[in-house]
Amino acid sequence: MTSSDSRKVVCVLYPDPVAGFPPNYARESIPALASYPDGQTLPTPGSIDFSPGQLLGSVSGGLGLEKFLAERGHRFVVTSDKDGPDSVFERELPDADIVISQPFWPGYLTAERIDQAPNLKLAITAGIGSDHVDLQAAIARNITVCEVTWCNSISVAEHAVMQMLALVRDYIPQYGWVVRGGWNIADAVSRSYDIEGMNVGVVAAGRIGLAVLKRMKPFDVNLHYTDRRRLSPGVEGELGLTFHETVESLVGVCDVVSIHCPLHPETENMFDDALIGRMKRGAYIVNTARGKICDRDAVARALDSGQLAGYAGDVWFPQPPPNDHPWRTMPNHAMTPHTSGSSLSAQARYASGIREILECWLDGRPIRDEYLIVQGGALAGTGAQSYTEGDATGGSEEAARFTAS
Ligand code: NAD
Repeated sequence: MTSSDSRKVVCVLYPDPVAGFPPNYARESIPALASYPDGQTLPTPGSIDFSPGQLLGSVSGGLGLEKFLAERGHRFVVTSDKDGPDSVFERELPDADIVISQPFWPGYLTAERIDQAPNLKLAITAGIGSDHVDLQAAIARNITVCEVTWCNSISVAEHAVMQMLALVRDYIPQYGWVVRGGWNIADAVSRSYDIEGMNVGVVAAGRIGLAVLKRMKPFDVNLHYTDRRRLSPGVEGELGLTFHETVESLVGVCDVVSIHCPLHPETENMFDDALIGRMKRGAYIVNTARGKICDRDAVARALDSGQLAGYAGDVWFPQPPPNDHPWRTMPNHAMTPHTSGSSLSAQARYASGIREILECWLDGRPIRDEYLIVQGGALAGTGAQSYTEGDATGGSEEAARFTAS
């Protein structure tokens, strides 16, 4: 390898556990999957340098890439210091060839940062959802943007189902009574309902949305969906789905709405005061898609007024959210940090997928079409199906307030 073949890979990952790395693992292994639900193969790297089930998504895990990149003579910089002009991420960008980042702890690649990185040719998302990249700027600069399609779709679907049940049954406060040492049944059940018989709808029935519908079917609920692409009559019939042409129509009939569309200009702020106002009083929203699809203050207002009975999800804007973000303290929420797609099971798949993508890129082989969001100056692959052109990174600089607040 000549020095001109050497690439600089800058990788932004979430911080290591506060209790130290590596952690003690609860289980010895994770199940091996044969394929994804639509038959797509799991990642196919030449080899991996980790054991599936290990913590790979934080800085010391390094997505299991350190040895592989070092052996090939590439520079690998891993940091969690990602926000503000003095951050390691911003300092390392000017000569970076490849950036790897995660939706959970996004290294926002705004147009300004892309301008500062003249060598940047490839932006990889360790997960699914590339809205932390200014896709319009990537299109203009001919930067390839890709993600590991399917790697954590089922992980998210499981989390969304868990949170629907947590909200409707009001699980979190009941757990709180146990931990505090009480036995206050009347308090604990005063907001608790069965989901059976309710109208449950998803906004977008792509990989995750459809997986949620399939998982909710055995709960004997009435299932609804909206999407800009309609599912086949066979799937609609098998799951007993009601299709809605518009999100307004869907929210008007649903008791529980789970959001699963990507964040792009068409979906930013979709759930504002007006749309939430069209929902039934006492409806629930679960949002594991992206925080910015919901208007931050409209959600908090609707919980305060009782228009919404509950809100849950794991996605915020920006990430990490400042400690004074209203979703931390609003009533009747069941939020988690952005964890649904970063279970240890999911990490094994996205780390393998990143290795596959890097092997392809560095060897001059094409990246799978289904992993592509932007290529050749246009939306491509999954990006062409699920996104619109434009930028959704506006306001991301507020993430720098996290440590200060
Ligand atoms: P997908 O590409 O399979 O599905 C997206 C669906 O959204 C498509 O069916 C598309 O037609 C639909 N859509 C796009 N714009 C729409 C609009 N304006 N109205 C209605 N439908 C619209 O993607 P997926 O794997 O199901 O993932 C969906 C999103 O979930 C990701 O883009 C990401 O933002 C989020 N996600 C979150 C996590 C997490 O950890 N919380 C993990 C993975 C993905």
